[in-house]
Amino acid sequence: MRVTVAGSGYVGLVSSACLADSGNTVVGYDIDKAKVEMLNDGGCPIFEPGLADMLGTNLKAGRLRFTSDLDDALSAKPELVFIAIGTPPMNDGSADLSNIFDFAGQFAEHVKQPTVLATKSTVPVGTGDKIDEIIRSRTQIKIDVVSNPEFLKEGSAVADFLRPDRVVVGAESDEAAQIIRELHLPFVRNNRPILIMGRRASEMTKYASNAFLATRISFINEVANLCDACGVDVNEVRNGMGTDSRIGFQFLYPGAGYGGSCFPKDVRALSYAAHQHNVLPRILDAVHEVNQNQKQILFRKIQDRFAAKVGQMTFAIWGVTFKPGTDDLREAPALILIDQLLDAGAKVKTHDPVGMENLKAIFSDRISYHQGAYEALEGAD
Ligand code: NAD
Repeated sequence: MRVTVAGSGYVGLVSSACLADSGNTVVGYDIDKAKVEMLNDGGCPIFEPGLADMLGTNLKAGRLRFTSDLDDALSAKPELVFIAIGTPPMNDGSADLSNIFDFAGQFAEHVKQPTVLATKSTVPVGTGDKIDEIIRSRTQIKIDVVSNPEFLKEGSAVADFLRPDRVVVGAESDEAAQIIRELHLPFVRNNRPILIMGRRASEMTKYASNAFLATRISFINEVANLCDACGVDVNEVRNGMGTDSRIGFQFLYPGAGYGGSCFPKDVRALSYAAHQHNVLPRILDAVHEVNQNQKQILFRKIQDRFAAKVGQMTFAIWGVTFKPGTDDLREAPALILIDQLLDAGAKVKTHDPVGMENLKAIFSDRISYHQGAYEALEGAD
């Protein structure tokens, strides 16, 4: 198929590479001209295992290219256009959809033939309806607006895209649903389901899934804090719980709070939507509050252990991104810890296998950066 993917970030790039690799002709479109230039020169602006090689192979094979010109992106007459544009949080917790609506308007003005427009971005219920309205107000061409939320995880995004647990398609037309289904058939040969549902149900499925996983993390963090207070090893408890087949181990690891570009913003956006509909999201709000508190926990433990000495000490930190296997620092708990240590007057030395460049852009010369893990420990207390 001929496919255009709008947005060349974590989701857009992985989708573009994997769709090209399965034989489709893909054009990646992004408004960031520097990023587009880097991609067409064979570079990769993010770290994601296997992604750079896959982009390179498909660029060379002529199945993939990038552009910042929307006319050019649509000139190949794609049957399918994906939206993989960011939906960052606003101050009130709601999702900022302005870039998506801007794109929808411009798409409607440039599109030349009937197309399926599928939203991979995580968007609140009703966003597909609004995209539909924007498009209908600007063009007579038949555009089927579909929801096709993305469930990949950073750190294993390529593998997740190639072998999803399920594909969710929210479509108001059978024809459009079948096109998305056909595109995904190579990725579900292991009998994973392609679930076709209403567009609004699909939008909700993505938020509800992320909010549920975040709930498990906040739950085990709360249990861990209680274990600390009772002198119990939470890992023993986790093993005791996770071996129950009704519970399982996934997302049941206590830590310094969840971060990243999805869970924090998606929990807040779902809570915002609930308030808009006069539904009190007690669990969602507690999940968020527990997580905000958990991000303070490492520094609190350091203070309890070293008290007033913290300001004269040097701390080494291994691992700064929000989880292993990614260079993504969005909402990473380590950023809060580093700020707190610096505010207390401590020195900070850091090592991360792939996150150092992004960390430098935030802290510049206020902390030190070390290529070797053990090098970061030299002189550290
Ligand atoms: P990102 O910030 O990495 O990338 C977004 C890209 O969109 C950027 O390159 C930006 O330049 C581009 N962009 C902005 N406005 C544009 C426009 N008008 N036209 C074309 N391009 C435009 O974001 P991401 O992490 O890839 O997330 C994208 C969406 O997918 C979000 O809604 C997110 O919640 C969702 N999602 C993310 C993940 C993840 O792990 N990152 C997983 C599943 C779903």
